[in-house]
Amino acid sequence: MNIQKDNMIAKSSMVTVLHRHPKSNIRLFVFDWDGTALGGHDPYDRFPKEFVRFLDGLAKQGIGWATNTTWAVETQYKVIKTSGVKSLPVFLAGSSGRIAAHMTKRGLIPNHPYARWIESLDRMFDKRVGKTLRRIAAQLLRDGLVDQLDFNPYRHRYMTVNFASTSESRQGWRLISPLLETGNMYRIVGKGNNDTILPTYMNKGTVIAYMQKRLGLRAEETMVAGDGWNDRHMFKTDVAGWMVCPANAHPGIKALVRKHDGVIGRQRYSWGVIEAAEKLMNR
Ligand SMILES: [Mg+2]
Repeated sequence: MNIQKDNMIAKSSMVTVLHRHPKSNIRLFVFDWDGTALGGHDPYDRFPKEFVRFLDGLAKQGIGWATNTTWAVETQYKVIKTSGVKSLPVFLAGSSGRIAAHMTKRGLIPNHPYARWIESLDRMFDKRVGKTLRRIAAQLLRDGLVDQLDFNPYRHRYMTVNFASTSESRQGWRLISPLLETGNMYRIVGKGNNDTILPTYMNKGTVIAYMQKRLGLRAEETMVAGDGWNDRHMFKTDVAGWMVCPANAHPGIKALVRKHDGVIGRQRYSWGVIEAAEKLMNR
């Protein structure tokens, strides 16, 4: 744990985002992975070469890029390295906004102040919600409602449920919904027999606000790209002034992009993102 070192990294990251895009005032580009930067290509565990070129092109113009995905930051590091991106991200965000890290040429450095903040929220969450969440998990198992339950109350605080059928799913969500109504947790997908519930503080919007604070940037200087409903916290005007999504995006995300004057790509995955971003930056 070294705050001074961490501050230095944040400052050195700023060097890459000093310039504004000539036509827009974008200085930071934050993107989701599955279905956004990744998809429609093989091998899956690296960015398509067009996307690599796009990221390096942004960096050359002085626009910083940052990740924001469910993927662990350690795996992200490997993917970025394997992809052959020449520029370095100004931030990596992983595990649905739970982890923020910096990437240098030599390795990964966790952002300690952010980790400490999340830990403090974990403690509050455990006090407020822990017992109820454990009780619900036990009851879902006892009543035989789930085929699969992924729940580790002492680690990431999320719970993933795969209900055995639609009627079991209905019963299960009836058990869970009072907890969701407290506002302490939310559903990632929000429909269907399989879903994950997460603590409210673990979301992709909050971590962008943190990046902006550390980099000295504003929402109006930030462009986001995402496709899934779990990206919805990025598509808010107090998080990003510039929004894009590919053709394969969730209808709810497309609606947010439209509402906030963003661009929806005609192509799918990263090709749609590049197309939409270039259109948005140059109009
Ligand atoms: Mg996605």
